[in-house]
Amino acid sequence: MSKATKSPIWDYFDTDENNRSKAICKFCKMKVSRGGTSGKKMTTSNLRGHMKAKHIKVFQKVEDLKCFKKINTEKKNVIASTSTSKENDNSKVSVSNSVTVIIDQKHQSKHEETINKHRKWTSSEQRAQKITMRIGEMICVDIQPYSLVTDQGFKKLIMYLEPRYTMPSRKHLTETVVPLIYEKMKIQIMNDVAKADFLSFTTDG
Ligand SMILES: [Zn+2]
Repeated sequence: MSKATKSPIWDYFDTDENNRSKAICKFCKMKVSRGGTSGKKMTTSNLRGHMKAKHIKVFQKVEDLKCFKKINTEKKNVIASTSTSKENDNSKVSVSNSVTVIIDQKHQSKHEETINKHRKWTSSEQRAQKITMRIGEMICVDIQPYSLVTDQGFKKLIMYLEPRYTMPSRKHLTETVVPLIYEKMKIQIMNDVAKADFLSFTTDG
C-alpha cells in the first residue's frame, strides 16, 4: 500500500514484523488483529476499534483527519475534471496555435512549482503535525503559556524557519494537542510503572 493512500490510523500502529496479520499499538504495545492474513481480507476496522476503546482522544483526531482528507480528494477531483475539459478545448485549436499552448503549459508548470514552494501546508501534512506536537511539548516542558502561539517574536521565528507552516490556534492546542501529549505521557508512565519492581514516593513538607 502506498503511503499516500494509507489510512491515518497507521500513524498509531506498527505492523508486527513476525506476524503480518497483526498490528502493534504504539501507545500500549498491544497486538491487534488486522482481520485476516491476505492483503484483501485485512481491514483497519479492528485498529479503529482499539483506538476508540482504549485511546478515544487520539481516535477522534484520526477521524478529524480522515474527514479532512476526504474533502481534499473531492476538491482534487473537481480540479481534475475541469482541466480535462480544458484539454478538449485545446484540441480544437489549430496547429499554429498548439505551439503557444505547449509553451503556455510549460510556463504554467514552472509557475505552479514556485507557488508550491510557498504554498501553506494543509493540517494533514505530516511535518506540520510534527511541528505542532513539538510546540505543544514546548508549552508543557518549558511551562509556557498557550499565548506563545500568538507572540510576535515566536511567530516570526517559525515563519522564518518554515514559511509553509501555519501556527496552531490556542483552541487547537488546548483541545487537541496537549490532551494528545498527556495521553501519550500517561501511557508511557503506566508502562514504566508496570515494568518496575519497586516504587518509592517522596514528598516535600
Ligand atoms: Zn493501544
